[in-house]
Amino acid sequence: MPSLNEIRSTFLNYFQKQGHEIVSSSPLVPRNDPTLMFTNSGMVQFKNCFTGVEKRDYTRATTAQKCVRAGGKHNDLDNVGYTARHHTFFEMLGNFSFGDYFKKEAIPFAWELVTKEFGIDKSRLLTTVYHTDDEAFEMWKKLGVPEDRIIRIATSDNFWQMGPTGPCGPCTEIFYDHGDHIWGGPPGSPEEDGDRFIEIWNVVFMQNERFEDGSMTDLDMQSIDTGMGLERIGALLQGSHDNYDTDLFKALIEASAHVTNVDPYGDQNVHHRVIADHLRSTSFLIADGVMPSNDGRGYVLRRIMRRAMRHAHLLGAKDPVMHQLVPSLVSQMGEAYPELRQAQLMIEETLRLEETRFKQTLDRGLKLLDGEVADLGEGDALNGATAFKLYDTYGFPLDLTQDALREKGLTVDTDGFDAAMEEQKAKARAAWAGSGEAADATVWFDVAENAGVTEFLGYDTEEAEGQV
Ligand code: ATP
Ligand code: MG
Ligand code: MG
Ligand code: MG
Repeated sequence: MPSLNEIRSTFLNYFQKQGHEIVSSSPLVPRNDPTLMFTNSGMVQFKNCFTGVEKRDYTRATTAQKCVRAGGKHNDLDNVGYTARHHTFFEMLGNFSFGDYFKKEAIPFAWELVTKEFGIDKSRLLTTVYHTDDEAFEMWKKLGVPEDRIIRIATSDNFWQMGPTGPCGPCTEIFYDHGDHIWGGPPGSPEEDGDRFIEIWNVVFMQNERFEDGSMTDLDMQSIDTGMGLERIGALLQGSHDNYDTDLFKALIEASAHVTNVDPYGDQNVHHRVIADHLRSTSFLIADGVMPSNDGRGYVLRRIMRRAMRHAHLLGAKDPVMHQLVPSLVSQMGEAYPELRQAQLMIEETLRLEETRFKQTLDRGLKLLDGEVADLGEGDALNGATAFKLYDTYGFPLDLTQDALREKGLTVDTDGFDAAMEEQKAKARAAWAGSGEAADATVWFDVAENAGVTEFLGYDTEEAEGQV
């Protein structure tokens, strides 16, 4: 059974043989791109190569790209612990053509790698194409995919765009059917969110350009951008539908079981899974220079860290645990990503400090929360004032409280939470004004609010697409 490290190499070597340059992953914090919170796909580092603005000395590239989808438009944070296929941090394997080859080569490359190099059973594979893309449909047919396993999809799942304007185009995706012992339906069906039919690879054909007025033309320079989740193909090649059953995740889950002394595969397994996932995203973010803070990227990091810490607490951990898991992560991934090894001490120290601090209020906050929910029934919402108190006094990000309540079928009155936040700000303003300081002081609050000093909620609306 190939390990994730071996599968990564197989992918890169295959495309190298096809004339692609192996390019290193770019950092999780995109360079010169304030519109994007985190690198969330392989194409991010090549944006300017697709538009022709930037020229490199190769026109074919292949990468294993570090991705985080935990904020902005692509946010899989709430899927972790609930699906078998989503992480906050994952590696996207990709091949790229900048005005070099196109559809006619890209589809057979993908098919050959999946069915020959990886040896995946063809009868389990399905593909999707954009509903108007007859060309792609015919190519799959020619490769021997039966017509009833080439599904035409009319939604944005099969039409990619970089942003509201710019390069765009249809895409084709490869799915694997893990069998009817797992819940889920084929792409385009109402049950597509289940884990039976798992999307493994997305191949984008950049062939159009969209303008301000919504009109589209054909691009002179046609390009290819693809993305395959390493953990998903890894699970498949290791005989499971579940990413958390891969060698890498098993090692992290076992490390978590070891430090908490709780059975890795018993009832509490979901906590180990969340911890393993969040350990990766937090460690890689810190290695790329993000530090926990109360706004922007740092607040997303803090939210992920604190969510993990609540799960460790639920496993009964008395002492901080997250930092103790870092050596295991470094031994799994340090060779492929030396920055992890270089930053190991800083990652451990940052996790240890954050967990030590949060532990001082976590326990009391959870007791308060438990007391409040005792009176609530399935489907009820926790009042906003309590959620705000947890936020303000106990350091519980709103989404941590929501995560805790979701397990019990409860939600938060978010309007009430916002109102409590507003009231707090108004009080702070009044106190400041009443203190006899310069009248300008209120300006600071406005600036602070606009800059998101109190809580980070931005990016969602204006973030560019950035997926493969
Ligand atoms: P899904 O529909 O399963 O959420 P997606 O359509 O959002 O996936 P793409 O944006 O097409 O995913 O990304 C390309 C590939 O990256 C996917 O086919 C999948 O293999 C992988 N991938 C995407 N999101 C995740 C994630 N959160 N965790 C692990 N792998 C992922
Ligand atoms: Mg998705
Ligand atoms: Mg999808
Ligand atoms: Mg997709």
